[in-house]
Amino acid sequence: MAVTPQKTVILYPSLGVGHLNPMVELAKLFLSRGLAVAIAVVDSPDKDSVSADAIARLATDNTDITFRSLPVPPSGSEDHSHPVMRIIDVMHVASPALMEFLSALPAVEALVLDMFCTDALDVAAELGIPAYFFFPCAVGALATMLQLPDYYPGAPCSFKDMPADTVLHFAGVPPIRALDMATTMQDRGSDVAKARLAQYARMLEARGILVNSFDWLESRALTALRSGLCTSGRPTPPVYCIGPLILPGHTGGISERRHACLEWLDTLPDRSVVFLSFGSLGRFSTAQLREMARGLENSGESFLWVVRNPPPEHQSNSILEPELESLLPEGFLERTRERGLVVRNWAPQSEVLRHRSIVAFVTHCGWNSALEGIASGVPMICWPLYAEQRMNKVHMVEEMKVGVVMEGYEQGLVKAEEVEAKVRLVMAPGEGDELRRRIMTAKEMAIDAREGGGSSNVAINEFLADLQKNST
Ligand code: UDP
Repeated sequence: MAVTPQKTVILYPSLGVGHLNPMVELAKLFLSRGLAVAIAVVDSPDKDSVSADAIARLATDNTDITFRSLPVPPSGSEDHSHPVMRIIDVMHVASPALMEFLSALPAVEALVLDMFCTDALDVAAELGIPAYFFFPCAVGALATMLQLPDYYPGAPCSFKDMPADTVLHFAGVPPIRALDMATTMQDRGSDVAKARLAQYARMLEARGILVNSFDWLESRALTALRSGLCTSGRPTPPVYCIGPLILPGHTGGISERRHACLEWLDTLPDRSVVFLSFGSLGRFSTAQLREMARGLENSGESFLWVVRNPPPEHQSNSILEPELESLLPEGFLERTRERGLVVRNWAPQSEVLRHRSIVAFVTHCGWNSALEGIASGVPMICWPLYAEQRMNKVHMVEEMKVGVVMEGYEQGLVKAEEVEAKVRLVMAPGEGDELRRRIMTAKEMAIDAREGGGSSNVAINEFLADLQKNST
């Protein structure tokens, strides 16, 4: 008797490890539920594509998941107006390779697309494969983005040209200043804003949207989405909050040693260290780094700080190892040696956040970082930098109440006094205790969501039932 091959769910991330890593966590979740999974990773000659080495490492650490590299031609332009345009262009030229890959597979159950991969909806439609999105950001961001194709074209002007005190009202999320909207959306006439608006509109074509969040954390945004308030009454695809999916503690493979910063943290008391880390791309000018250093020094608290070179416009060697002595104020490293550690470029963030010594997290509000802070029960000081991080900051501070704002980020320079004041505030009783109580509740809710009858488990069951419906 012929054996019917098991149908495979194909995950299709866009460029960069920041998009690949959450997809890998999603793949693990699917595997744990008995699905066969493969991840199709675009291999582009353009910058930002995930390196063959990174894929090989992920494949070694996750032997149950098939990684398939899709070689694609150059996207055609060296000179993109915005880094996101490069991602969109590369994913556009990748469609034929995806089509060829999928056509050669015996049985594909579904295609799960990253939010930048809307072109792949056409591939899925042509092959008759159900397509879902995996949205690696907040439900609040999704709710806002889905409202923009209706709101923005008729708005009086671009967000960047609105008066500084302009506050916008979108269903399901707190009022937001125009300047806190996503950086890609600030200029309505830009290529990137037009391209992203078209992508937001196309998200409604999917059969469902999986979101890396959980119901309790963002119930208002979820209710607005589910009641059609974000799409002017047009049907919104089912939204499945299946998170939080976060990087496991150890990501370096079995052979890699524990990072030295963790050993340093081992020597410090419980809940005594402020951790500062700004995602995979966060960089500051030398002037800003010096303000941060002064603020940390004056706070008198212990700290672990990930420092990178300033961005290329401030310094030509931004990808090299930072020379800390010349970047930071003279004598700073020596004076803070007993209570501070500065790490160059990268620290094992999710493991650091789970360390018992960490008391607060100064974060750029990337969504993975926010979820890692929540899952570790560490209050956050929000210092948004790029993408949709200012929007996340609004949701984290005003809706979720898991952090406070580092004032001055929008002027481009946060003063040492503000860094000192916010570090003191989260360490102190009063507002600090209130934040700690709230984040511990959020942490417990995050655990509950993924367990037994928890909301994220229920959502994944619903998603599986939908897959089943399609294959019968
Ligand atoms: N990260 C890390 N070490 C660092 C900086 C970042 O491990 O020094 C990880 C972090 O734990 C998170 C991811 O990189 O999982 C960053 O994702 P996020 O969405 O927060 O920000 P992005 O880099 O996409 O702006």
